[in-house]
Amino acid sequence: MSSLLITNAQLVTLDDNNRVIDGGSVYIEDTKIVDVGSLDTESYTPDRTIDAGGKLVMPGLIIAHHHLYSTFARGFTPPGPPATNFDENLRFLWWKLDSVLDTDDVYYSSLLALMDAALSGCTTVIDHHASPACCDGSLDWVERAFMDVGLSGCLCYEVSDRNRAGEGIEENERYIRKCREAGDGQMTALFGMHASMTLSDETLQRCSAIGNDLGAGFHVHAAEDKIDVETTRDRYGKRVLDRFHEFGITGDKTIFVHGTHFEPDEMDLLHDTGSMLVSNPESNMNNGLPVSPFLDMLDHGVLVGVGTDGMSSHVISQARAMYMHQRTLHQDPTLGFVEACEVLLWNNPRICNRLFAEPRGALAAGQLADVVIYNYVPFTPLRADTFYGHLLFGLGFSRVHTTIARGDVIVDAGDIPHLDENGVRAFCTERASSIWSRIQ
Ligand SMILES: [Zn+2]
Repeated sequence: MSSLLITNAQLVTLDDNNRVIDGGSVYIEDTKIVDVGSLDTESYTPDRTIDAGGKLVMPGLIIAHHHLYSTFARGFTPPGPPATNFDENLRFLWWKLDSVLDTDDVYYSSLLALMDAALSGCTTVIDHHASPACCDGSLDWVERAFMDVGLSGCLCYEVSDRNRAGEGIEENERYIRKCREAGDGQMTALFGMHASMTLSDETLQRCSAIGNDLGAGFHVHAAEDKIDVETTRDRYGKRVLDRFHEFGITGDKTIFVHGTHFEPDEMDLLHDTGSMLVSNPESNMNNGLPVSPFLDMLDHGVLVGVGTDGMSSHVISQARAMYMHQRTLHQDPTLGFVEACEVLLWNNPRICNRLFAEPRGALAAGQLADVVIYNYVPFTPLRADTFYGHLLFGLGFSRVHTTIARGDVIVDAGDIPHLDENGVRAFCTERASSIWSRIQ
């Protein structure tokens, strides 16, 4: 059994009592938090003690929707004419990029993005993967990157009919079964699908039958752009969420992503079925699309989370974008600040607690030992009622000092000691040129 004691910290517990504790300590054994608070540190005999030096310590953050495979798109301009709409953006960029990825590309794109996640204080990532050239077994390569960095992950493969009918169904089924058999808690799985507009009735029925038979939730983009809404209406005479509901895709383990064009009664359907909705504001804005109306979704009682959609592995910036977008959209400076922070800090853990066996998102006894020490000593009062300001205007611009994931120190004094970080980045720089040259 390994043990770790963090002392001299400004603790933000985010537990049921939501406390800020000056000079607090956290005691960890193996993968679990055992004690939190103003502890008598002399009474512990840990393998290692970390003096936080008054820095802010809080639970690890969660990215509720990511595309790790998109890492090597940074700075890339596709050949040919520029995309002028969402459909072209898929066909000219994303479907060309993911189609050239081999298993090494899948591994290294995941590894780099997860290293960045760890360095920004994120300890759990819910990913949505696509790599048609190496579909079968690809989730094992994503998983290997999670294992090598040390983070927890929820994986799925993006089924669509864009290359061949039902591509990815078998990979989802295989990986869901694998996670069930492994049962170690670090990795879990959902049944992934791209979007209504790329799924025939036959494919959707196959996904539903297998996913529901396995008792798995689903992870699917929904009504991100009006082309998904219009294609679904024109081909099937239905709205996007109604179609998914009729096929048995809704439910309390299912994540719908975006929901940008959901109507009020579709939000009610989300709520009534217990389905989850993950907003990705920077991605929507980058695509020139409307942004998910997350305040409306919350008003309808929907469990709303926040992700990055592959834009980055930095999720605090997404919470900033969420509330700022609402303020400028409605020209109202009172909107969304508290709600955006709550989505990140409270709802993302609630989403994970439906998908993973081990509870996370709070500094409390029995929680998974995912703990972050930020290089941040507050210079204005830090209390429970001021913390959100520190989160979005301080921590969002601070480096992580230490990231502890599943009880292991994976970022130590700003470095990732168990990986050759510079070597990985240098190798990936070479790899990126190779990937770009393969995209036609
Ligand atoms: Zn996405």
